[in-house]
Amino acid sequence: LYNQVLDLKGNIRVFCRVRPPGTTGDPAPSCMELGVDGEVAAYNPRDGKRRLFKFDRVFGPEASQTGVYEDTSALIRSVLDGFNVCIFAYGQTGSGKTHTMSGTHMDNVDDRGINFRALNDLFELNHKRQSEVVYTVRVQLLEIYNEQLRDLLEDNRNAPRLEIRMTERSGVNVPNARQVEVETTEDVLAVMAQGMRNRAVAETRMNERSSRSHSVLTVIVDGEAVATGERTHGCLHLIDLAGSERVGKSEASGDRLEEAKHINKSLSALGDVMAALAAKDRGHVPYRNSKLTQLLQDSLCGQAKAMMFVHISPEESSHGESISTLQFGARVKEI
Ligand code: ADP
Ligand code: MG
Repeated sequence: LYNQVLDLKGNIRVFCRVRPPGTTGDPAPSCMELGVDGEVAAYNPRDGKRRLFKFDRVFGPEASQTGVYEDTSALIRSVLDGFNVCIFAYGQTGSGKTHTMSGTHMDNVDDRGINFRALNDLFELNHKRQSEVVYTVRVQLLEIYNEQLRDLLEDNRNAPRLEIRMTERSGVNVPNARQVEVETTEDVLAVMAQGMRNRAVAETRMNERSSRSHSVLTVIVDGEAVATGERTHGCLHLIDLAGSERVGKSEASGDRLEEAKHINKSLSALGDVMAALAAKDRGHVPYRNSKLTQLLQDSLCGQAKAMMFVHISPEESSHGESISTLQFGARVKEI
């Protein structure tokens, strides 16, 4: 395990996932061409132009949830050895971010996304290692909407405001956030259901809020070696980002304009931080420009291990957004 982890050190990997055409009701065929070796081309039927991008890997419409997880599991397992890991889902609304992170049909085990698979995987490994190391796993689920943090595991609406504090220990920088210990898949499903209920409460007041907010599931893993008492602490953040689409001038007024400004600001702050981390000689990393990057600072600094899935809606109508998504991914990958 350790050797695999060394290979990943200081690396930011960017994967591209192209969902099947038609899942959001647009009957147009796909304008994406997938190559081997992580190449992906966006074809614009209007002017016949083709633009090529290259990532660490590309997953096409046929890729299964299991296949996608296989490529992330080594990174996720490194949390047990005390590493900090961030996995981001980026893309416009409808491109498949939630499908990758959570899955679409909770009741279908094969459809479950990275977050359930990661937690199950960690439970299984904990079980295997239990004679050597005793682990505890806690989860925290926050939402960032209009640059404000909200605890999705807190049912009490009058709970104290959440603030981010600087700390040396990853995953504990929001002192008032609830952290729930989980031991089984059932525990995880219960926690997720609670999170979704709390999110739905806000959604009735603000339509489609889930696509305008970032959700950050944090998994905190503490280990103690049975023989030596040596401790490890690692933390995994699974981030379903707000939709990256730019809003048209006509739609952008009032609340929608306000949301768009906040999303734009936080996604560009994230891009700046990732690009700074990916650069060979890492200079100043601008964490302070958004709540999201502040929240993740304690995990992204030092031996940052991050992975980003950039998601593509393959239909022609999404061509412009797809190009900006691919450019975002390419910038973050650049070394
Ligand atoms: P987002 O979270 O980016 O807004 P969703 O994950 O909700 O997008 O995906 C939009 C729709 O497309 C959903 O109905 C989802 O089930 C479907 N979908 C997304 N990705 C895939 C995929 N790889 N395979 C099959 N269906 C997908
Ligand atoms: Mg979503």
